[in-house]
Amino acid sequence: MNFSKSKQIINYLIIFFLRKKITIKKIFNLFFNFFYGLTISNKAAKYPSILVIEPTDLCNLRCRDCGYNLAVEKKRTILKFGDYKKIIDETKDYIFCVLLYFAGEPFLNSEIIEMIDYAEKNNIAVITSTNGNFNFSDEQFENLINSKCSSIIFSVSGATQKIYEKYHISGNLEKVNNNIKKIIKYKKKHNSKFPLITIRYLITNDNLEELESARQFYNNLGIDYFQPRYAYSQSAVNNFIEQKYGNNNTLMQNSKMPKKYKNFCFWLWFILIIKANKTILPCCYEFFKIPVLGDYNNQNNIADIWNSEKYRNFRESVLKYREIMNCCKNCDSSFGFQDNVLLKK
Ligand code: SF4
Ligand code: SF4
Repeated sequence: MNFSKSKQIINYLIIFFLRKKITIKKIFNLFFNFFYGLTISNKAAKYPSILVIEPTDLCNLRCRDCGYNLAVEKKRTILKFGDYKKIIDETKDYIFCVLLYFAGEPFLNSEIIEMIDYAEKNNIAVITSTNGNFNFSDEQFENLINSKCSSIIFSVSGATQKIYEKYHISGNLEKVNNNIKKIIKYKKKHNSKFPLITIRYLITNDNLEELESARQFYNNLGIDYFQPRYAYSQSAVNNFIEQKYGNNNTLMQNSKMPKKYKNFCFWLWFILIIKANKTILPCCYEFFKIPVLGDYNNQNNIADIWNSEKYRNFRESVLKYREIMNCCKNCDSSFGFQDNVLLKK
């Protein structure tokens, strides 16, 4: 494990253990999720340990090859704060973290800061992600810092507008950079370590050559992490790097192929996704057409959905047939698989 990754893990431990008042209930719930997963039972603990909540499926960009633009019918829904609050109120004693993003641009939901604030006040760490093309007033920036948001990820894949917009179609790099600078400025003003700022650089054939200049630029600005990830499947990018630079180059040094778990998927005992339209998914691979496993519009209880017959049947199917299931057979998912490349800061 390299230094940067250890530092990142230490920071996340600080978020969870020192800031978030870990409770016995949360630890027990996590333990039982692990227990059921490891004993390959179709049951799970009372609640998932992490929630993914989609503030909206609206987006102001049209990123090239974005799975959600290509394959997922856009419902153009915005999650209301009242519904979000009900979900947090029900689950707050059991979950460690809310990932406040999925498809779409979270900062298009005008209640996003209230959402962050509410979860953080209830001792749940919030990690959100943005394309950075939002318009915030100074007051909103102040409110964002005051919300004590744990972590914010900016998706920026290019160091110049010309390369950036090849992937982030309709995006404006200058606006993104100004927003990052503003957050850093207000963090300093409030002497706050949070939100931790990560730049996520999605590697494509077009932008690989700007990776190092982007890394340098953002590190000089004062971000916390620079995290390159593959925009496509890891194998596709590895092939590209190998063809272009040979297989003995520094870009390949830390790169490993993801390990596929045969007829198992740990996400099914760990994480649950709530879309802005309040349907429930088992993982983020919506564009693989994974099944909808619940509907909060009429079920209204996360605990019931998490151990519903439908959810348990899906776990059962994955345990038996993952390798041949249409939705799962092409999935490269393994724990943190995309983080194992090019991680030096
Ligand atoms: S910002 Fe995200 S959701 Fe929007 S187009 Fe880009 S990848 Fe897709
Ligand atoms: S698509 Fe992948 S992450 Fe989702 S349930 Fe199937 S194996 Fe798990």
